[in-house]
Amino acid sequence: MGVYNRAPLEVERGQGIRLWSRDGTEYLDCVSGISTNALGHANPKLVEALKVQAEKLWHVSNIFKIPGQDALADALCARSFAEVVFFANSGTEAVECALKTARKYHHANGQPERIDIFGFDGSFHGRTYGGINAAANPSYTEGFGPPMQGFHQLKWGDKDALRAAFESPTTAAVILEPVQGEGGCRATPEEDLRWMREMADAHGVLIIFDEVQCGMGRTGKLWAHEWAGMTPDIMAVAKALGGGFPIGACLATAEAAKGMTTGAHGSTFGGNPLAMAVGQAAFAEVSSEAILQNVNDVAGYLKQQLNGLAEQYPDVIVEVRGKGLLMGVKLKPNNRDFMGWARDEARLLVAGGGDNLVRLLPPLNITLDEAREAVEKFETACKFARTQLAT
Ligand SMILES: *Cc1c(COP(=O)(O)O)cnc(C)c1O
Repeated sequence: MGVYNRAPLEVERGQGIRLWSRDGTEYLDCVSGISTNALGHANPKLVEALKVQAEKLWHVSNIFKIPGQDALADALCARSFAEVVFFANSGTEAVECALKTARKYHHANGQPERIDIFGFDGSFHGRTYGGINAAANPSYTEGFGPPMQGFHQLKWGDKDALRAAFESPTTAAVILEPVQGEGGCRATPEEDLRWMREMADAHGVLIIFDEVQCGMGRTGKLWAHEWAGMTPDIMAVAKALGGGFPIGACLATAEAAKGMTTGAHGSTFGGNPLAMAVGQAAFAEVSSEAILQNVNDVAGYLKQQLNGLAEQYPDVIVEVRGKGLLMGVKLKPNNRDFMGWARDEARLLVAGGGDNLVRLLPPLNITLDEAREAVEKFETACKFARTQLAT
């Protein structure tokens, strides 16, 4: 189906932060499959984990016990607020499970009237019906029938509306990305996240975090909400969890998941042995102190350098924002044009984003030398943009 607006680039091979097209051109890949290949392309540890598992067992269905699921779930729970995990194959399925878990919780509590889910403008929760209704971005919902009952959208930052949502007796949950990815690298202020936790506890509402993009070390802590020193009740994770292998996971406290009893949910492929083998290898790396330290070091350098470019190219760059290596550069020229210039003139791949942003989402193990190269290439693209703006 013609649903993608693809770059004219036939990719063939990758190694670390580098990507080669079929015609042999080398690119510096600061897209990373949109924050997914957190350890770069063809990471030897992940390749080895996949190869070993491929010769042992691919798939069995969840009617059997899959040891890799226990191992990865234990690792995730040991490093988070969560006590239980459901494995899916993608981010939007993890979100779907989170939404169902929240409603089922209130149902199990004898409050089936609590069905309302509040999301925020500029958010992205994937493309299932639940996902598009939770994010309520008109360009993703239009033409797909009536809005689903019980889904509401708040204006990002509208605290009064959020207060009313918490106080409503039919509210089930609020869902948000602590740091918005697609919507434009907007971070919810840490004090607001703490306030939300207090309000949720006071009114029996659940908090769902969608950390599909901002989680897994991307912001410099394993989970983006750690910066605020609070925790959600339910959290969707995917993208970097498999280092490029399709995985999603819905994490929850045992309390929040109490409605998710036998038969309430399921998946054929979710948590299959191949995904669990790669997921364990990826999680061990990404959750390591060395990687998280690297994210903070390189992010500090990149932010400083990009701010320098913003001063030098005020006709091209409006501002630099984001958290850790979820970095956004708001542009004056059209961001899609700029992505093409970066690709063709500088051999630099960057992702687009809402609010006319380009996002730099390099692998979390990017070296300082590679970051330097990214900045040089970004400057080349800015120079070229200037010539285009002049004509
Ligand atoms: C990418 C993304 C999703 C959807 O993930 P898929 O794997 O494409 O289904 C959901 N939420 C956020 C925040 C994302 O960035």
